[in-house]
Amino acid sequence: MHLPTPVQDLIRRLNEAGFPAYAVGGCVRDSLLGLVPHDWDLCTAALPDEMADVFRGEHLVETGLKHGTLTVVRDHIPYEITTFRIDGEYTDHRHPDSVSFVSDISEDLARRDFTVNAMAFSPDQGLIDLFEGRQDLEKRLIRCVGEPRLRFEEDALRVLRALRFASVYDFEIEKETAAAARAMAESLKRVAGERIREELLKLLCGRGAGRILRQYPDILSVIIPEIAPMVGYDQHNHHHSWDLWEHTVRAVEGVPPEKDLRLAMLLHDTGKPRVQTETPDGEWHFRGHQAVSAEIAEGVCDTLRLDNATRDRVVLLVRYHDIPLRTESGEINTDRSFLLRRLNRFGEADLRALFLIHRADRIATGYSSPEREDQRLRERMNALDQLMAEKPCFTLKDLAVNGNDLKGEGLRGKEIGAALQRLLEDVMDGRAENDREVLLDRLRNVEI
Ligand code: ATP
Ligand code: MG
Repeated sequence: MHLPTPVQDLIRRLNEAGFPAYAVGGCVRDSLLGLVPHDWDLCTAALPDEMADVFRGEHLVETGLKHGTLTVVRDHIPYEITTFRIDGEYTDHRHPDSVSFVSDISEDLARRDFTVNAMAFSPDQGLIDLFEGRQDLEKRLIRCVGEPRLRFEEDALRVLRALRFASVYDFEIEKETAAAARAMAESLKRVAGERIREELLKLLCGRGAGRILRQYPDILSVIIPEIAPMVGYDQHNHHHSWDLWEHTVRAVEGVPPEKDLRLAMLLHDTGKPRVQTETPDGEWHFRGHQAVSAEIAEGVCDTLRLDNATRDRVVLLVRYHDIPLRTESGEINTDRSFLLRRLNRFGEADLRALFLIHRADRIATGYSSPEREDQRLRERMNALDQLMAEKPCFTLKDLAVNGNDLKGEGLRGKEIGAALQRLLEDVMDGRAENDREVLLDRLRNVEI
């Protein structure tokens, strides 16, 4: 295993001062998997004060001191160094009530959640693997350190973390760990939303997301109760091959692994069971499900304490997930003025996201082939690329005239906004060039 030079140096400096020190947790796991760790965490017998002595004069960040963490920044890269510790009780299922520092790394490794996360490494001692983490990595298994039930009782978030790691690395969850996770899932209700958020979003973006969603809808329903009724829900509709949960899982898998898109797909049809109606011939319809799903999405985003920008985007993508992306006349979905009007409404980034969502949603019905939908997506993206290359006008901000110009023409109050809107539509529809003189002339002479 190769440690980056700064990590080797940090360990050596601590050793020279008489303290054992190791790389630990995610970075060891990822290195053994042949992945590049996104950060390097260290643990040591030194107390924070003692670490501060060792690294005196360097750029230090002290935010984690209470929990025994001192961060040393080298070349703008932060390295978290944490004193060996054991966690106190998690009476609120959220935070350990206290932490106690210990002098032995084995106690520190034993408090960690999964065997694959409980390994340490130092150049002197090599791999410290007290719980067969390496073997579980080879078997591609997520397994609790110790008694799974007790570990999930201590901190219920670990239930979701098990699903998250299984999804990200495309591992299975070991049988007893999985059974305990199901049995303890209810206690996830008491875990703080922001802790859930991080794990859920990583889960949704993992390679094995679809498989984990299929295997554990019961656990996910504790966080998002609207999932439960979707499982096994037959849509009685000839446009759908699968039950609503399977459709949803496929839709999630069908969009790129970006958190907004994946969360939007997870929630896009949650409103369906609530608005279901039946026609005389036995077909079911779900009119208005988009708005109900959007409302549900808003609630979920709030529970997860998502930032406002992400919440607004997810809610918008859910609300408009099946807005028509072609003109009334049918096949022409790359029509210029139509695209400009969609750009005006959604902006470029969200419009592209809606293209991706459409593709995934359609393939996930089982009634359209990936080839056909890919072809359609390419056409739409290409048309949009070409259009954007022209730097087209599709907002009032881009328009060659503004409110002051119109005041100068004698327009007042509400007339101004209405006239600007008409001129913008004229430009988007190709009736007028986006040129100041042309537009003012049109305002004076054309009955619009
Ligand atoms: P990532 O690549 O997502 O950062 P990670 O393994 O570093 O993965 P973190 O959440 O950053 O995950 O946690 C760092 C380490 O701390 C874990 O590897 C694990 O050993 C331990 N850990 C984190 N959260 C818990 C928890 N809730 N219970 C027990 N151990 C935990
Ligand atoms: Mg980490």
